[in-house]
Amino acid sequence: MINRIIDTRTINDLKQTLDKVGRVVITCHKKPDGDAIGSTLALCGILRNMGKNAIVIIPDQLPHNLSFMIQGWDVVTFTHSEQRAGDLIRNTQLIMSLDYNDFDRTGGMSQLLAASKAPKVLIDHHLNPKHDFDVKISHPEISSTSELVYRVACEAGWEYYIDRQVASAIFVGIMTDTGNLAFSSFYPEVYEVMARLMEYGINKPMLYKKAMDTVPLNSLRLQSHALLNRMTIIDDSIALITLDANDLAQFDYKSGDTERLVNRPLSVESIYWSVFMREDPDCIKVSMRSEGDFCVDSMCEHYFNGGGHAHAAAGEFKGTMQQAVDVFYQIIDDIKKQEIPKNQKTE
Ligand code: 5GP
Ligand code: MN
Repeated sequence: MINRIIDTRTINDLKQTLDKVGRVVITCHKKPDGDAIGSTLALCGILRNMGKNAIVIIPDQLPHNLSFMIQGWDVVTFTHSEQRAGDLIRNTQLIMSLDYNDFDRTGGMSQLLAASKAPKVLIDHHLNPKHDFDVKISHPEISSTSELVYRVACEAGWEYYIDRQVASAIFVGIMTDTGNLAFSSFYPEVYEVMARLMEYGINKPMLYKKAMDTVPLNSLRLQSHALLNRMTIIDDSIALITLDANDLAQFDYKSGDTERLVNRPLSVESIYWSVFMREDPDCIKVSMRSEGDFCVDSMCEHYFNGGGHAHAAAGEFKGTMQQAVDVFYQIIDDIKKQEIPKNQKTE
């Protein structure tokens, strides 16, 4: 059985809000991942099946391996179609924010969204939403926003509107945000959700292959270069990978090419904290992963203007790569000074 987790008043507020509108804009965070695109498409499909004029606007392009997901959907990419996206946002009757907790996470769209007078609905699993939403469905304990969309649909009585396309999008979102159920999924109900999704006849081998196991050749080479030549190990337990603009250019880097690179060092038994810094045009993108009782979300928030989840967080550093690396070593010094015991991975 899948228990209800959203309070009845919130679900009723959501239904009443939707009853009053026809046009709905659904948004996610920039550099969309499988959960961002999975959850927005799933909700869009449900609302369209309900007869709403719903559309997904993503802040920027999808990584190559996820582009199969939007085939057949009219998804608007803000960086490609600013005018159309702007018109849609200005004219919409409802804005739905999925898989992010702060408009800043939507890049160039953030001011338009913040300025809109349309009612706003949040469906998300990140900690501490930053704004007031008219309807707020925030559940950090849930694996993914996609799972949350499924639960919203069930709890609102919208299961009838879930079809194979919707189920596939939710499935990809859960699969990618949990590393194929390797993390953030240690409660029985997530398997029950997956089981119910399978009943829609989704093509799991195809979805897994495309979303989780497809990379362009240059990405494979860039990641190999990063692990071989650009990784420093500290005290046998911390990994730092840096890729500067030259490294990226050498391997013809495109958005998405370093996906999951930061997870790789954690395969080494003694390593519990992995940090990856990438020199993007406007900032140093800092990603962190950890295991055991060592958490990285507040570290990303405090030092790198970011956030995320306890064991998977990220942020943006305005400055040079060297300065970002200096901050990282400063954090290590601070941790040592506080005499925080060295964290062990959980068995
Ligand atoms: P990733 O390392 O895969 O880019 O991101 C890991 C987690 O941190 C994701 O949950 C993502 O939503 C969050 N995250 C990534 N970049 C940022 C950022 O710039 N700011 C905040 N607040 N969270 C981020
Ligand atoms: Mn997510």
